Amino acid sequence: MIVLMRKEATQEQIEAVVQTIEAHGLKALPLPGGERVAVGIPSAIPPNLRPLLDEILSAMPGVDQVVHVSRPYKLASRDFHPHDTEVRVGEVRIGAGHFVVMAGPCAVESYEQTLSAARAVKAAGASILRGGAYKPRTSPYAFQGLQREGLEILKTVSQEVGIPTVSEVLDPHDVELVAEYVDILQIGARSMQNFPLLVAAGRSGKPVLLKRSPHATIDEWLAAAEYLLTQGNEQVMLCERGIVPIDRTYARNTLDINAVPIVRYHSHLPIIVDPSHGVGHSRYVPAVALAAVAAGADGLLIEVHPHPERALSDGAQSLRPEEFAHLMAQIQAVRTALTPFATK
Ligand code: PEP
Ligand code: MN
Repeated sequence: MIVLMRKEATQEQIEAVVQTIEAHGLKALPLPGGERVAVGIPSAIPPNLRPLLDEILSAMPGVDQVVHVSRPYKLASRDFHPHDTEVRVGEVRIGAGHFVVMAGPCAVESYEQTLSAARAVKAAGASILRGGAYKPRTSPYAFQGLQREGLEILKTVSQEVGIPTVSEVLDPHDVELVAEYVDILQIGARSMQNFPLLVAAGRSGKPVLLKRSPHATIDEWLAAAEYLLTQGNEQVMLCERGIVPIDRTYARNTLDINAVPIVRYHSHLPIIVDPSHGVGHSRYVPAVALAAVAAGADGLLIEVHPHPERALSDGAQSLRPEEFAHLMAQIQAVRTALTPFATK
């Protein structure tokens, strides 16, 4: 529910609306707009209270209109936060017009591999280094990541090369540990609805990259983001990484390119696209990445490995450093071509 105040509403009238909402045991969030203030109620309102509250608030001085929002997410929606969120990672800004590329290997495999990838992606223009230390693998016999040692490698390389990092956290109990070593916590596609993990990541106060589950609707994905936001963490990014395909013959997933403009319209959170998991084959990654840029993504997450043929995970979809450098030039060309037509 959102209470739209009249243009001429006084500070006292706004305050009275906030107090009335709070007197009913609900949270009130004043949202100053260009012309007038709105007061949002981000908490769930018990159905029996809804009509009564509508009646009371509608009759209060200074109130123009009470609007019902039936979305499963509120803090993630533009209704509550009309302007783009800008995420800050050290010097790097993401969203609100700032475009970033995050790149690196699927998994941290060794110091040398990570260092070589970090140098290559930075030289080509990436601003964040990716690399999994904890890997969610379908088979328990597959490489599970170097875990704590992987985190140490990431941190050393990050400092040596001068590039911030993003890495997945799988277990709520590891959030504090991972947050000590990396700059952005990645919540993987398989963990999108691990609610205790979302709460722990939200509480950490670290920027979070929330991947969409391949089975999730956009509402479910934004509701997952809501878990992070309700913990007071506003540094949240969404990541589209492909949804279940009708045919796995040629591609691992189907990148939902529609999600880019849809999410940008309904939410203020930056949207990052992962074409590597989206299509699953390095041959197709550049084309899909460029489509995401043209569609308005705020950034890309791309797997790059110094020797994809030797990769311990996701080698088939990892770009070689020279392929990545070429793609970065193409990305720049698409962005430059679109700049004169940018709408804000
Ligand atoms: C990854 O980024 O390497 C990863 C495991 O991604 P996802 O959670 O999207 O499968
Ligand atoms: Mn991967």
